[in-house]
Amino acid sequence: MQCNLSQSTVGRNKSAQFRQQPHAAPLPEPRKALFRPTTRLSTAACLGIAVLMILPALSLTAAELHIGGATVSITPEQPVALSGQMHARIARTVESPVTATALALESREGDKVLDQTIMVSCDLVAIREGIQDKVRERIQARIPDFDGSKLVMNATHTHTAPVMREDTYELPAEGIMQPKEYVKFLADRVADAAVQAWQSRRAGSVGWGLGHAIVAQNRRSTYANGTAQMYGATNKADFRGIEGRLPRHRRLRRSRRRSAVLLG
Ligand SMILES: [Zn+2]
Repeated sequence: MQCNLSQSTVGRNKSAQFRQQPHAAPLPEPRKALFRPTTRLSTAACLGIAVLMILPALSLTAAELHIGGATVSITPEQPVALSGQMHARIARTVESPVTATALALESREGDKVLDQTIMVSCDLVAIREGIQDKVRERIQARIPDFDGSKLVMNATHTHTAPVMREDTYELPAEGIMQPKEYVKFLADRVADAAVQAWQSRRAGSVGWGLGHAIVAQNRRSTYANGTAQMYGATNKADFRGIEGRLPRHRRLRRSRRRSAVLLG
């Protein structure tokens, strides 16, 4: 029922979905920088970066790349405290669900496995201590052919996802999902995503595309004299808008299985 608060200034924009342009031309120099700094990257963008980072280690010219992907909801089904502000906030309705997206990669040469990883991007403010280990414990028996030490988790750094630490805020003892309960729920869901991604991997490839996405919403107000201020007033005559709210074009690396399923 709940996850993201409706807040006009800091609410996350889950509409940040990549829309691939069907006839985008290949980019000429694929190892150049892809993204400009932004306050929050979408799940797909984070996975795109992760694919780019791992490519040099995979020796694609000699190996075959096997790719799998899965997305699960990590939205709790009861009220929950939100992380990301100095004061406690209890969310009682869902503005948009938060998700975890897993990308499984394995390079092979014939029957020999060269390297492997599962990267999971989560709509959370951060990956708190111990959570990655909890997920590793959950997946090891389910996918014994995967080296659990090669599971990597990252957060999209939304400020409107559940709290995972017990001691950050004073929270009501009843009526909400407690942080430790959410951590267990989260670890179960992320483990499911990792296992699904791993088990769905098939021979694939990685290529370039040109996408269009809204990936962030800033909190800095801009003014007519060219200055900007964090949480600046928006009811002034010289207010000119919230910084960085226009859609940005991004160059994206997309991964593709042979079945032509785009994975992120
Ligand atoms: Zn932050």
